[in-house]
Amino acid sequence: MRGVHAVLPGRGFDHSELMPPGQAVIAYLARAEIAAPGEETVALDSAAGRFLARAVFADRDYPAAARSTMDGFALRSADTPGRFHIAGDVQMGQLFDGGIGAGECVRIPTGGFLPTGADAVVPIEQAHADGDWAEISAAVPANDCLNAAGEDMKDGEAILQRGRRIGPSEISVLATLGIAQVAVYRKPRVGIISSGDELVGVGERAGPAQIRDSNRYAIAASLRQKGCEAVAFPTVADRPGELEKAIGEALPLCDALILSGGSSVGTGDLTPGAINNLGEPGVVIHGLRVKPGKPTVFALLGRKPVLGLPGNPTSALLILEAVIAPVIATLTGSAQRAMLVTALLEEELTARAGWTWYVPVCLRDDGGRYLARPLAIHSSSASLPARATGFLTIGEDVTEIARGATVNVQPLMEGLI
Ligand code: AMP
Ligand code: MG
Repeated sequence: MRGVHAVLPGRGFDHSELMPPGQAVIAYLARAEIAAPGEETVALDSAAGRFLARAVFADRDYPAAARSTMDGFALRSADTPGRFHIAGDVQMGQLFDGGIGAGECVRIPTGGFLPTGADAVVPIEQAHADGDWAEISAAVPANDCLNAAGEDMKDGEAILQRGRRIGPSEISVLATLGIAQVAVYRKPRVGIISSGDELVGVGERAGPAQIRDSNRYAIAASLRQKGCEAVAFPTVADRPGELEKAIGEALPLCDALILSGGSSVGTGDLTPGAINNLGEPGVVIHGLRVKPGKPTVFALLGRKPVLGLPGNPTSALLILEAVIAPVIATLTGSAQRAMLVTALLEEELTARAGWTWYVPVCLRDDGGRYLARPLAIHSSSASLPARATGFLTIGEDVTEIARGATVNVQPLMEGLI
């Protein structure tokens, strides 16, 4: 496969062999053939955040019969205008006992089911009621002020697709359909291993040349947001054999592994070699024609995905969101992709052709539209992900985007859509 031999021994990446990220992920997924995740059943109350393992269909018409959309009088439209005898009241939760005949009407509340014989509702404001009689002065068309049977959902209609993430809207319709137990995909367990001699724990004092292992937490948070169970394994030093040992211990406990750091081609970068020492097929793609994030590793050990992210926090997060996300979605069974925000570019952007660029931007609301201010890419920046609220993608052939152009931004900040 193109891209597999993108590393020249002793000379780093062979740029002519690198694949653009979109192409790489497609090639990797085709090679990996990740099986659909298993199913489990959860109570409706615990289903939020999970992915539907089966499509959901309406079990009958909703509403089951015609229902009023107004407080008023149900009657036969053909009898209007006219004077109607009020034959009774429709009660909520009950069908009206007996139908109505010519010249008759019944009082009906919003949501009440129409009695047989009635085919329209006249709102209370358009009727003049006096004792047992109601005067309707204008003609009303059939089906006025009502929801017909099946207007909301038709018997057998597909309402929710498989792989849809369950949120409040999905919970609402599942409850309406009486689905108290929901078939969802099992959460994949994804392990995280950070490596680097310079790394110390988040609770430790970091010397001037040391770095706190922030990726371990950031990657775990991102994986959980994407619907995985994330398990961080102990941080590993850049010593031959250590990463092999850590991967070897973690892999049997996980469905996939994400590795942070050591993914490039320097002498201290042990990740690709460690993966290859552990089995077949090993590294499938090493290096992407992308900035930041070139030293990304797509690998498989047996059938399990092993993905190596660059250690730089900005690169790691951008690659995870922009490139690895579809692999994670295949593991979770998610049929959803990131929603993009349309924004106007606040400053002109120029980019070197031949590379895909992920440009962090700061989005701000400008009275109903978003403005996107590009931030300078420093992939080694630890604070850039927090300063950015999203990023935009510049394709290989694009060398400039004018100020004021409409761009699509993928949000990084939660809730920003
Ligand atoms: P590497 O990909 O191993 O070459 O690491 C590149 C740079 O990323 C390092 O010099 C560190 O500054 C930073 N880095 C590596 N691993 C982590 C991590 N787990 N958390 C935060 N920063 C890291
Ligand atoms: Mg390193």
